Amino acid sequence: MVGERKKIAILGSTGSIGTQALEVISAHSDAFEVVVLTAQSNADLLISQAQAFRPSHVVIGDEAKYDQVKQALSALPIQVMAGSKSLEEVVVLEEVDVVLTALVGYAGLLPTVKAIQAKKTIALANKETLVVAGAFIMPLAKEMGVSILPVDSEHSAIFQCLMGESHNPIEKIILTASGGPFRGFNREKLSTVTRAQALKHPNWTMGAKITIDSASLMNKGLEVIEAAWLFGLEQNQIEVIVHPQSIIHSLVQFEDGSMKAQMGLPDMKLPIQFALGYPNRMSSDFPRFDFRDFSQLTFEQPDIATFRNLGLAFEALSKGGNMACMLNAANEVAVEAFLNDQIGFLAMSDLVEDSMVKGTFLAQASLEDYIATDQLTRISAQNWVKTHNKG
Ligand code: NAD
Ligand code: MG
Repeated sequence: MVGERKKIAILGSTGSIGTQALEVISAHSDAFEVVVLTAQSNADLLISQAQAFRPSHVVIGDEAKYDQVKQALSALPIQVMAGSKSLEEVVVLEEVDVVLTALVGYAGLLPTVKAIQAKKTIALANKETLVVAGAFIMPLAKEMGVSILPVDSEHSAIFQCLMGESHNPIEKIILTASGGPFRGFNREKLSTVTRAQALKHPNWTMGAKITIDSASLMNKGLEVIEAAWLFGLEQNQIEVIVHPQSIIHSLVQFEDGSMKAQMGLPDMKLPIQFALGYPNRMSSDFPRFDFRDFSQLTFEQPDIATFRNLGLAFEALSKGGNMACMLNAANEVAVEAFLNDQIGFLAMSDLVEDSMVKGTFLAQASLEDYIATDQLTRISAQNWVKTHNKG
């Protein structure tokens, strides 16, 4: 029924997750309605999305593009806003039921906090929010009675495996990793890889930042921390296994030793649709997995001596406090510097480690502490990039 459609705000609608979410919503326009769209700088795509989906509000992050968006949408009943603060205003609008956090990086934190405080259901793609401030976000969501529904495919898999198991303790979870484009590379080979090579992921087409994170295994590291917060796990309950075909999206092992896995072809529209439709599974025409196309599903140990980021993330999780916030900020600076050809591939881990060693550790951190840690870590990481610039 039209009156009961779920009203969705998409933060980061022009990105990989955002555009796929709009495909899911289009295919189920009887169930979903878009009420907010936001983008950082791609004004042209934001405008065409707004013309097609008719949200009540759009936000363009880049204030220099406000006039362009405002003018293009002037004939429509759409309120156009600009700047990052506007994200915190649109997520609390009365008409919003679900906020899909499909924006990238630390920028997801404060809008998500506001959305939770306004009791909006969160469909969480932005894993950085939990990496930076999981110790703040999870209790806040509990206090507000808000569900955080994972969109990340591994976490969606675990969430699906846990349905009907809420009274059964988890022994451990196993996150699968594709291994990325450099699986099997040694440090010597990694020292010369280029931006273009790192941006070619074997199984998934994603935004630039997460694609680099996948190549460096930082993405899996961030996902370990994300899983610890989402499912209330200690670090020794989380394992990572490389599974290059990306068919098993992750597994849960219970106390009787039984394991449950969730499988399917690698297609982010599946976990996006599951989170938006939760608790219902909705029909889809996505291509189906066929065992005849995959005679082997293979598994191997991640090489954490070569891909140091995964080890650094486990270390940040065990230290707690603001350590993962430092890891995240340093990594965001490192990825940007790598994408700008300022530092090499292996230097990204050097920078993250340096930031974790030199930053001021706080065992207990407030939201304000996370904000300050992010800012300070970025400043020192940017200085590190200047002194280690390869050009
Ligand atoms: P993307 O780069 O393709 O898109 C990012 C979106 O966020 C764009 O709409 C952009 O305009 C907006 N944005 C960028 N910087 C912003 C800022 N500072 N403030 C506000 N908006 C900003 O990224 P993506 O691949 O869609 O990933 C989005 C999030 O989802 C990330 O946290 C990523 O880790 C997570 N995720 C992505 C995938 C995937 O398949 N792409 C899978 C799992 C999780
Ligand atoms: Mg993932």
